[in-house]
Amino acid sequence: MARYREAVCKLCRREGEKLFLKGTRCQTAKCTFEKKGYAPGQHGKNRRVRKMSDYGIQLREKQKIKRYYGLLESQFHGIYERANRKKGITSENMLMMLETRLDNIVFRIGLAPSRSSARQMVRHRHFTVNDQLVDIPSFQVKAGDEVQVRPKSRKMEVFHESMKRIKDGKQLSWLDLDKANLKGRLIEIPNRVDIPVTFNENLVVELYSK
Ligand code: SF4
Repeated sequence: MARYREAVCKLCRREGEKLFLKGTRCQTAKCTFEKKGYAPGQHGKNRRVRKMSDYGIQLREKQKIKRYYGLLESQFHGIYERANRKKGITSENMLMMLETRLDNIVFRIGLAPSRSSARQMVRHRHFTVNDQLVDIPSFQVKAGDEVQVRPKSRKMEVFHESMKRIKDGKQLSWLDLDKANLKGRLIEIPNRVDIPVTFNENLVVELYSK
């Protein structure tokens, strides 16, 4: 499976905001964006002041969302295509599909420190969905589905460390967490307002529908 292999902090610097790609480090003073908040490269400090075209603005927003969820272009475009074929508002469909991917749910519940580690854990077969082993990060979790660390993996320190970091009552309203059993549940498909991101996903639709 292809994946982005370069320094991920550069992506935050390129997009001009924190994308939280490195887990716990992103919350500390070690965050590269906190120290060097300008774009990478020789001319990075000047890049932000340039006026962007409409196309440029749409492109940057698409790149930002794609990078936030850790997807490659083909994967992200595929999600857009499927969202476009569904009934309803394409931009909202797309965001719901991104949010209900298994790797994102594992991360949002708090069983992994970042989406990239969640994706790796899913591939390494550490999770079940409704008691069935699932090792596909893009698997779409449905309302009511339970995601749990499989019995063989429950002694792994990484999960217990993750649980220690979570403060009670800190879950999103559409997710439920049973810390003792390393288990979470998607209570319902979230509304747009309940997803804690500030993206303008409409710009992605504008870009792709040209
Ligand atoms: Fe982005 Fe996290 Fe790196 Fe900070 S530490 S620049 S938020 S990936």
